[in-house]
Amino acid sequence: MSIDKIVSLCKRRGFVFQSSEIYGGFGAIYDYGPLGITLKNNISQLWWRDMTQLHENIVGLDSGILMHPKIWEASGHVGAFNDPLVDCKECKSRYRADDLVEKDNKNTEWIKIQCPKCGTTGKLTEPRQFNLMFKTNIGPIEDDSNIAFLRPETAQGIYVNYLLTQNALRLKVPFGIAQIGKAFRNEIVARNFIFRTREFEQMEMQYFVKPGEDDKSLNEWKQKRISFYDQLGLNSSKLRFHEHGKNELAHYAKEAWDIEFEFPFGWSEIEGIHNRTDFDLVQHEKFSGKKMEVFDQQKNERFLPYIIETSAGLNRILLAVLSDAYWEDKDNDRLVMKFHPKIAPVTAVVCPLVKKDGLPEIGRKVMDLLKPHFITIYDQQGSIGKRYYRQDEAGTPFGITIDHQTGEDNSVTLRHRDNQQQDRVDIDQLVKAINDSMENY
Ligand code: ATP
Repeated sequence: MSIDKIVSLCKRRGFVFQSSEIYGGFGAIYDYGPLGITLKNNISQLWWRDMTQLHENIVGLDSGILMHPKIWEASGHVGAFNDPLVDCKECKSRYRADDLVEKDNKNTEWIKIQCPKCGTTGKLTEPRQFNLMFKTNIGPIEDDSNIAFLRPETAQGIYVNYLLTQNALRLKVPFGIAQIGKAFRNEIVARNFIFRTREFEQMEMQYFVKPGEDDKSLNEWKQKRISFYDQLGLNSSKLRFHEHGKNELAHYAKEAWDIEFEFPFGWSEIEGIHNRTDFDLVQHEKFSGKKMEVFDQQKNERFLPYIIETSAGLNRILLAVLSDAYWEDKDNDRLVMKFHPKIAPVTAVVCPLVKKDGLPEIGRKVMDLLKPHFITIYDQQGSIGKRYYRQDEAGTPFGITIDHQTGEDNSVTLRHRDNQQQDRVDIDQLVKAINDSMENY
């Protein structure tokens, strides 16, 4: 299945739009339509609940996108957050050098490499380092003294607030801080729809542990994080771990694993799990001149914790969910988005069979009953079959039809999206029937 089918469905049904479309689009930025934002919110709410509600020792944070520029010197982003850039002088295509040859292969003879687009050999430039951070200026005057960066990761906001958070909540190591927010990277080659964009959202949880307990903790988080994707209904055979080899490891990492998903364009990272050691805290001590240690009451001593990071990309997970859900049901000549009912953007559609005989009025009452529990929409346009197929494309798991029998015995039909089975359910039992069906999905 090609990614183009998903792109087209996303536009047609209001999941994702290209940014600034009326101006011809804008460099790898996307906007989320009504169904997309709800699906995205449903995913991030599950993550937030999983982290901050189900773990007593993990708390939330929302730090600024703009922060003191020294933070990015300390973290290594000013000096080292670079991608090597290669241009083809013939056709003007631009590449990340590590997309063309093995990462960190310093002995590459670029003169012998062929441009994948135009096929010319000998026209690729030597790689130039390109910093991925977006720069801006604080205040009215644009000069070097007031440069600020749009954060390229949310993690640093957690590190610089970790002691304030720990003190405020009297947390004891091990504890975690979770944050969801925008990050910005001036990617050289942005591609594959919302997979690699210049503005995106991260869901990061930084877990502070005693040195020596880091390896064990990393293993625990690997298991917890991969099982999180069950809740989203992702097919587990499309998920796998990839360990970073020595050449791949980031400057801060002792050990790193990616969770990869099998997208229509191949296996690619959706989340990184890293042992960052005390690298970041040591750096912030150095650059800020402030102590970053926590106090161990039992031992009556101060120490720098190690950090296990779980860093997931919300937009990439959304794309994984969209591509996994996409189902061409050829037997029934329909397109279905098989979202798990817990994250589907719309849970139920209420359809009076006809626009008369008091059925719309009953439909409105059913809406009032369901709205406090589920995202529910009302649809009385067109034939019932067409209405259902419209909702199949939007991924709505339940369809409720009010028909003439409803007036007689207070029952409706409850249609299940995937197998199109219809049950007769008493209106008073509808909330329970939907909840049960969601639980047993
Ligand atoms: P890649 O190698 O694909 O560029 P990365 O290893 O640089 O990713 P991390 O720095 O580990 O990514 O970021 C953590 C997560 O943030 C990634 O797993 C991914 O889900 C998300 N992410 C990173 N860059 C982007 C981007 N440009 N667009 C969308 N999501 C991104």
